[in-house]
Amino acid sequence: MRDLIIIGSGPAGLTAAIYAKRAELDFVVIEKEAISGGQIINTTEIDNYPGLYHMGGFELGMKFREHADALGAEFVEGNVVGFSRTDETVTVTLENGDVYEAKTAIIAGGARHRELGVDGEARLRGAGVSYCATCDGAFFKKKITVVNGGGDVAVEDALFLSRLCTKVYLIHRRDEFRAAKTLVSAAKGTENIEFVLDSVITGINGEGKVSGITVKNVKSGEVREIAADGVFIAVGMLPESEIYKDAVETDEKGYIIADETGKTSAPNVFAAGDIRTKALRQVVTAASDGANAVTSVESYLHSLR
Ligand code: NAP
Repeated sequence: MRDLIIIGSGPAGLTAAIYAKRAELDFVVIEKEAISGGQIINTTEIDNYPGLYHMGGFELGMKFREHADALGAEFVEGNVVGFSRTDETVTVTLENGDVYEAKTAIIAGGARHRELGVDGEARLRGAGVSYCATCDGAFFKKKITVVNGGGDVAVEDALFLSRLCTKVYLIHRRDEFRAAKTLVSAAKGTENIEFVLDSVITGINGEGKVSGITVKNVKSGEVREIAADGVFIAVGMLPESEIYKDAVETDEKGYIIADETGKTSAPNVFAAGDIRTKALRQVVTAASDGANAVTSVESYLHSLR
C-alpha cells in the first residue's frame, strides 16, 4: 500500500509533492485538471512570494509543477467524489470509479468562488457574469465592467480591468476594504475606476447577455441601475471540503480544523493550504503548509514502525 495520497495540485499540494519526493515516500497526487497551480494560475501577478517579485500567477504555478515533475512525482487527473478512512487506510474514489488507497492522505483541495445568489447571476454566467477577471477580462476590451467585492482579489481585478476597459465600477458592501492598502490606493488613483461603496448588487440584468446591474445603497436605501457589459464577482472563497466532513472535523464555515502541522481530528489525514483553518490564505502560507504536512505524515508513518 502507498504511504500517501495528496489531493490537490495548488501550491500546498505541489509543495507537499516536492517534500514527499525528498522524503522518499511512495505517493500519488490527485489533481482535478491537468493544469495544476490552483487558484494562482488565474491571478495576474503574485507580488508577495519572496524572491519572485512581479511573477505571473500562471508562471509561478507552472514552476511549482515543473519542480514536482523534475523530482518524478506521479500525478493522476480525476475528480475526487469519495473519501473514507479507517485507522489503517485512507480510501479515495474518483468520479471515473478508480479507487486509491494509502496509509495517509494530505487534503490540499483549496477553495472555490463564493456566489452572490442574486437574480440573473446563474442565468447570465458565461454571458457576461464571470468569477475570474484574468481569465475573461480580454472579452471586455473597451467595454464597461463591474467588480463586486472588497478583498485583494476584487481590487486586483478592478486594477487589471481598468487597463482594458473604458470604465470599471467597484462595488463593495462597506466603505472599508479588506484588501491591502497599497492596492486600494492604486485603485483610488486610477481615473477609470469608480467606487460604489456601502452598496450591494441586488440583480444582474440582461437578456442573453449582461446589460447592467441593479445596486442598492445599504445606508440610504437608494436603488439604481448601472449599465455594464461584464460583471466580475470576487466576494471570496468557500472551502472544497464537503466530501471530507464525515472523515475529519470542520469549523462552522466548512474549513478543515487543523493547525500549521496539518494534523486533523483523524490521525492519518492531514490538511494543507486554503482548505484548513488559518489566519492568512496566501501562496506562501499554502506552500509552507505542504511542507509541514509532509513532516507530520513522516512522523505518523514512523510511529507505525
Ligand atoms: P476575501 O479577502 O475573503 O474578501 C471577500 C470580499 O467579498 C470582502 O470584502 C467581503 O466583504 C466581500 N463579500 C463576501 N461575501 C459577500 C456577499 N455575499 N456580498 C457582497 N460582498 C461580499 O476574499 P478574496 O479577495 O477572494 O481573497 C481570498 C484570500 O486570498 C485572502 O486571504 C486574500 O488576502 C488572498 N489573496 C492574496 C493575494 C496575494 O497574496 N497577492 C491575491 C489575492 C488574494 P467584507 O469585507 O464586508 O466582509
